[in-house]
Amino acid sequence: MTPIGGPTLAQERKIVTEIPGPVSKELLERKAAAVAAGVAHTVPIAAVAAGGGVIVDADGNSLIDLGAGIAVTSVGNSHPKVVEAVQRQAAAFTHTCFMISPYEGYVAVAEALNRLTPGDHAKKSALFNSGAEAVENAVKIARKFTGRQAVVAFDHAYHGRTNLTMALTAKSMPYKSGFGPFASEVYRAPMSYPFHDGLSGEDAAKRAISVIDKQVGAANLAAVIIEPIQGEGGFIVPADGFLNAISEWCTANGVVFIADEVQTGFTRTGAMFASELFGIVPDLITTAKGIAGGLPLAAVTGRAEIMDATHAGGLGGTYGGNPIACAAALAAIEAFETEGFIENAKTIGEALFTRLGAMQEADARIGEVRGRGAMIAVEFVKPGTHEADPALASAVAKGCIAQGVVVLTCGTYGNIIRFLPPLTIPSDLLDEGLDVVASVLEGLK
Ligand code: PMP
Repeated sequence: MTPIGGPTLAQERKIVTEIPGPVSKELLERKAAAVAAGVAHTVPIAAVAAGGGVIVDADGNSLIDLGAGIAVTSVGNSHPKVVEAVQRQAAAFTHTCFMISPYEGYVAVAEALNRLTPGDHAKKSALFNSGAEAVENAVKIARKFTGRQAVVAFDHAYHGRTNLTMALTAKSMPYKSGFGPFASEVYRAPMSYPFHDGLSGEDAAKRAISVIDKQVGAANLAAVIIEPIQGEGGFIVPADGFLNAISEWCTANGVVFIADEVQTGFTRTGAMFASELFGIVPDLITTAKGIAGGLPLAAVTGRAEIMDATHAGGLGGTYGGNPIACAAALAAIEAFETEGFIENAKTIGEALFTRLGAMQEADARIGEVRGRGAMIAVEFVKPGTHEADPALASAVAKGCIAQGVVVLTCGTYGNIIRFLPPLTIPSDLLDEGLDVVASVLEGLK
């Protein structure tokens, strides 16, 4: 019988076999035989149910989830409103193709995004299936609007794995290596990374703008794309003023400023969108991940005049804005707006900062604890230096998983553990997860 997930699932860490257990092992063997080797996994279990703050595997182990499927299940897995909306929509119709026969769910999601994203200017949205697809389309739209071709992305950026987004993504291995040639007219600027560059936001912006100005030239530049807090690159929070200066330079030079909020969006950082934390109003904003409680949906939202620059038929796709994904998004958005998720993210963030900060004080291997809301990371270094220690980050993640706590690594140098739990995780479970992290770290001394 299929186990029932969602918030009624027992909120406990329970390890009844080694991980992976025998049933999970069997699936992983089938996976190795049937699924392309490039599609790797980090937690060796066969998931059968999830909800609140746990993932249950086929052997009956219940793991504490501090990753939310990479910032997707912010409203929790199988949120009751999402489940109900999906069931209702699946019974009504599953697909017409919005480009053939429009339906209300898509329009209502666009209306909600236009209302919720930063800025009170007139906005429009278009829906897609994945974060990478949203980014691709934001770039298309910016090029069409400006009549220019160049795009600037930043060091440590992650924007996806399709051809254009690989070019925008900074890290070669594993995202780009061997997959070239990449899309042209993509340029890279230095990011503000206070832990490593020690620069003020103003100075880091001057450095970036000088590179953009001299190596690309505003007259050729369609768009600058940036994650307000970088995700895969290492939860890098730019110094105060950096994003504002870049955004102002874009406005002054007729360049479309795109905030990629695929990972930071929908209350994750303690605000509906991370742009709000920095007081920036992007021209375009890309969203995905948390938007639909786990269903595949993505969007580009932005200034109506930019969004409308594209000729009819220039944007779209067979599945973009699928009715079931839209129904899920409307339910998730209602939950974000009415169930205290911004407060949850802040509370989780405070707990993470307190516990991880205490660990840092007693441990020279922790170089920095940073982030906003429920998007917090620990950067591991060789004690007394800023030199990355990826082996330690990887050992911590493996040790935690073996004890039933799912944590994810990230970072250009692979030396970062990131915490981005579902925002429905009970506080005692979060504490227990952090106890495990502390004891694993202690054991690696
Ligand atoms: N942009 C950012 C900031 C992301 O974090 C991600 C996914 N990690 C993407 C784009 C790509 O999203 P997807 O995997 O849905 O294509």
